[in-house]
Amino acid sequence: MKLTRRNLIANSVLGAITGGALTRMGSGSIQDSGDERFDPWIEVSAEALKFNLKQLQSLAGKRPVLAVVKNNAYGLGLVPTALLLEQEPGVLGFAVVKVDAALALRAGGIKKPILHMGTSSLDAAREMVEKEIQLSLYREDEAERIKQIKRKTEKAILAHLYLDTGLGRLGMPYHRASDWITELAKRSDLSIQGCFMGFTEDPEFDRVQLRRFVELAAELKTRGVDVGRLHAASSNGVYHVPEARLDMVRPGISLYGAYPTSPKEEMAMAELRPALSMRCRVVRVEQLRKGDAAGYGRKYVATEPTWIATLPAGHVDGVPRDFVKGARVLIGEDSYPIVGAVSASHCMVELGPERSVELGQVATILGPEHPDIHPSQQSLATGVSVYDVLMHLNPALPKTYA
Ligand SMILES: *Cc1c(COP(=O)(O)O)cnc(C)c1O
Repeated sequence: MKLTRRNLIANSVLGAITGGALTRMGSGSIQDSGDERFDPWIEVSAEALKFNLKQLQSLAGKRPVLAVVKNNAYGLGLVPTALLLEQEPGVLGFAVVKVDAALALRAGGIKKPILHMGTSSLDAAREMVEKEIQLSLYREDEAERIKQIKRKTEKAILAHLYLDTGLGRLGMPYHRASDWITELAKRSDLSIQGCFMGFTEDPEFDRVQLRRFVELAAELKTRGVDVGRLHAASSNGVYHVPEARLDMVRPGISLYGAYPTSPKEEMAMAELRPALSMRCRVVRVEQLRKGDAAGYGRKYVATEPTWIATLPAGHVDGVPRDFVKGARVLIGEDSYPIVGAVSASHCMVELGPERSVELGQVATILGPEHPDIHPSQQSLATGVSVYDVLMHLNPALPKTYA
């Protein structure tokens, strides 16, 4: 595909702040020179998203998916990615952590349920209720908050109960939850849609957590308390904790094509396809003489005459500094190592003794085209968490969706 500025979709400045509300680049905002773009961009594949969803659903015995699209849909762009996923019948709804992301999804046209997995100010909670966004409840003072929210809205308050079964991050501690839930369930101004928890992803303790969760749910059931759909499994749970699939699953990273925990094992269970490619064009090809260095700190010194290609993508764009520890970049048919140091806006790749790359050639840092540039492989090679690889992509990078 010929990529020009015109057929890219860019995040507005506001979009970057709110985590990805998008505007099409207006004709007036940036002049279209007709040139092919050098600066980095992201291409999102709708087909790969669909494929990964299918793979996860087959692992999860066809259970519905609450798609986690937090942090700018893991770098893919919040609203457009959610709009693509929303077309799939297997996607029951969406979950995010930040209020702005929840509101941006609704404002962007998402019709399916949206769950905000956090707490918020009363004003923000009211606004979410107005927009039919589901709240997460875990605070001691939720009953009082519900009263306050209800004073200013006619809308039903839809909510999920968030339980802490041992992660120690958010949620009402499970051992104090029983009466708290029983009281909340009596309220006519509250509609409980579900009840959820998060795992520590410590294989043995996950089972302890799950037992705490299902035992509490069973106890509530005998009391005649309905807590809606039970959900617990993120990507790791979908792959590794079959009993945690419950009434629906809640994957994030695997939807986007990266393996959550142990790529080799997980690839054999259900293969995933990276749903994004990060590309740019080579801005310089130059030969180092023996003894010449490349990059800040002279960390890379040529031991013989060596060709180096410079890419206009750096740590500000989301190329981790640690990508010098073994990440590779696909240019043409071959992959080349990132060397020297990743600076704010650039990195360099070592081509070797031959000038095998041309200025202006497309360089792919992440993508499905070659095993070396699979986000999970870049993570394995460099020790950078694959979550960081995706979620630290600069939300302002322009994107295409096809
Ligand atoms: C991020 C998150 C998920 C999704 O996790 P993945 O590992 O990306 O699948 C699920 N649930 C909660 C509460 C989360 O914060």
